[in-house]
Amino acid sequence: MRRLIAIAALSLLTLTACENNPASRPAATPVEATSTRALSADDPSLEPPALEKGVGIQSALTQFVDAKDRVSLTPDEWKKRLDEKEFYILREEGTERAFTGDLLDNKDTGIYACAACGAPLFSSETKYESGTGWPSFYTPIQEGRVGEETDRKLGMARTEVHCARCGGHLGHVFPDGPDPTGLRYCINSVSLDFVSTEDGGKK
Ligand SMILES: [Zn+2]
Repeated sequence: MRRLIAIAALSLLTLTACENNPASRPAATPVEATSTRALSADDPSLEPPALEKGVGIQSALTQFVDAKDRVSLTPDEWKKRLDEKEFYILREEGTERAFTGDLLDNKDTGIYACAACGAPLFSSETKYESGTGWPSFYTPIQEGRVGEETDRKLGMARTEVHCARCGGHLGHVFPDGPDPTGLRYCINSVSLDFVSTEDGGKK
């Protein structure tokens, strides 16, 4: 009997492992953009919405820009909007030093929006401690919010992730994350603005 239980437990483990294999996950369905609008640095749609205190994450999400909205700014307009460090990471695919980001240990409830264009990217509900020194999430907040591209800059293939709305560089995604996706979205704090759904504030 004990042996039977062991076999059953083992098959369950194998099954779970297969489900978590990122290679077998269905390809993300891209959300089709309506059109790409050219904006200036002070366009109000580039700011995340001011939320009411205590609003739930799902309800807060409906107040952000539509997933189909795509925008472009010239490098000069981005420079007006972003400081030097933000421009380097978001527009030139830089990386902040590990363990230096101000959102690394943030445990408040809310939405992580793109620091460049205000689009919602990640939820506090999927943030976890990866021990890598960068804020880590196991999935984006919604289908179509985060785009992927192959990055061969370090002489190996990595998957770069960016904001689907403005193309701003966020970080990379690796297949060593926790359940239920098995993915680790390793994101620069500089690329994110945290909008609390508890007190409505922005960090
Ligand atoms: Zn963006």
